Amino acid sequence: MSDLNVVSISEAKIPSEPFIACHLIDGSWRESADGETFDRVSPSHASLVTRASRGGTRDVDAAISAARLAFDKGGWSSTSGKDRATILLRVADLVDRDRERIALLETLESGKPISQARAEIEGAADLWRYAASLARTLHGESYNSLGNDFLGLVLKEPVGVVSIITPWNFPFLIVSQKLPFALATGCTAVIKPSEMTPATTVVLGELLIEAGLPAGVVNIVLGYGDPVGTAMTTDKRVDMVTFTGSTGVGKAIVKAASGTLKKVSLELGGKNPQVIFPDADLDSAVDAVVFGVYFNAGECCNSGSRIIVHEDIAEDFIARTVEVSRKVPFGDPLDPSTKVGAIITPGHQQKIDAYVQDAAKAGAQVRLGGAALEVPGLAGQFYQPTVIANVKGEMPIAREEVFGPVLTVLTFRTLEEAIEKVNDADYGLSAGVWSENVHTCLEFARRAQAGTVWTNTWMDGFAELPFGGVKESGQGRELGTYGLEEFLEAKTVTMRIGRTRAPWVDPGVE
Ligand code: NAD
Repeated sequence: MSDLNVVSISEAKIPSEPFIACHLIDGSWRESADGETFDRVSPSHASLVTRASRGGTRDVDAAISAARLAFDKGGWSSTSGKDRATILLRVADLVDRDRERIALLETLESGKPISQARAEIEGAADLWRYAASLARTLHGESYNSLGNDFLGLVLKEPVGVVSIITPWNFPFLIVSQKLPFALATGCTAVIKPSEMTPATTVVLGELLIEAGLPAGVVNIVLGYGDPVGTAMTTDKRVDMVTFTGSTGVGKAIVKAASGTLKKVSLELGGKNPQVIFPDADLDSAVDAVVFGVYFNAGECCNSGSRIIVHEDIAEDFIARTVEVSRKVPFGDPLDPSTKVGAIITPGHQQKIDAYVQDAAKAGAQVRLGGAALEVPGLAGQFYQPTVIANVKGEMPIAREEVFGPVLTVLTFRTLEEAIEKVNDADYGLSAGVWSENVHTCLEFARRAQAGTVWTNTWMDGFAELPFGGVKESGQGRELGTYGLEEFLEAKTVTMRIGRTRAPWVDPGVE
């Protein structure tokens, strides 16, 4: 594929020794009780990046005990918002200070481009600062409207011990969408990062200690869904689970947590449509579509992988998309000019390819790519930018998360038909519309079944704006004040004023 833009000259040095990652339990770094470890090999360079302690039941039990004790003794949960904010702001400064170190580990473990990793770490620091502002302004409600005899108070209290389970595609950013918000309310936590990307969560643990967070408030256990994730979702000492990951595991977590009726917040998968109307600014739409599908190699819950374009402009749109796709620099994630890096594992690359080959067999047309990408000098796995036309709504490639750099293009004739196609999905994470007509955009925004709608843009996010999905894309919201509310319980305090209560039992009756 010599006509693709392949980057293969790495300017950064890979560390010669692996990062050693241990559990953080009750303020100290511990190896697994049974001494087990697991390795993470870089998906781009095939070099050993991290050797991590592999958590077992004893490790996760100790972590949950520490979080429970830290919550119940009140050292963190009853501190003032001001004191909590001070620690969160310190963490933000430390994240900024260590940005390069965190970004390098993130890139080596996940395969994402170093420039993107740097931007994500910067974005994560912003989330810690935003959560600090919420810690200061967190408050309940008062009802002075219940008549002369009553005053009603609604106290906002931290939920308690929170299990935080994160995926591999945005490890540092996603833990920062959850943890600072949980801490802002006074919750304590046990975190399990993905077994694919444990390192940067461990670095975050180091920074939390340096920032002065009391022991036991945040505990980190490394390892796999079984047994670590299972214990974190079934143990009765845990009050809430916040999970980001696949819809399949999300459903398993709902079942696991139902035994003790934990609160569950889920950020799951997506198969996100973008509808392109003939009056759209096509240059902008094509660029955003290309960005939306190749960003993070398509390994993104928000991947805009399901394009629904008006029939009259479909051929022009596909031709332009193919042309722009060829220019995107794919290759060595350590090269600062690279925009698309490696695929997380060889097995995942095969899964992506199987979706493409099956679609081709079913009659879809592969207009670009559709195969593994060789990057000279690198032993990891990469996939070519891929554009697939003539896709039918019932094909798996149009309905399921491919989680790779693969664009599927469907067509429509009327707004009604476009909305029908948008909503013909099990997922409901995000959706986009491209049109210069404000009425079209507004109607789309109202009728699309999605947690987020972008009009004439794609994947812009802000700490202030809530993010989450409907249907099988999840429940609950992250970010904004809604993200804080997830970690709060409301307690009603009803106060009588004066001796005004009329007796229920008549005192005069003998
Ligand atoms: P995954 O569901 O395989 O794993 C996520 C985490 O769950 C990992 O830490 C894993 O070890 C753990 N886990 C696995 N089995 C478990 C169990 N039985 N109990 C408890 N924990 C368990 O997901 P992934 O492959 O790491 O990430 C990709 C998925 O995440 C995609 O579906 C993507 O759409 C989704 N995602 C969603 C968002 C969002 O905000 N909606 C963001 C990023 C990723």
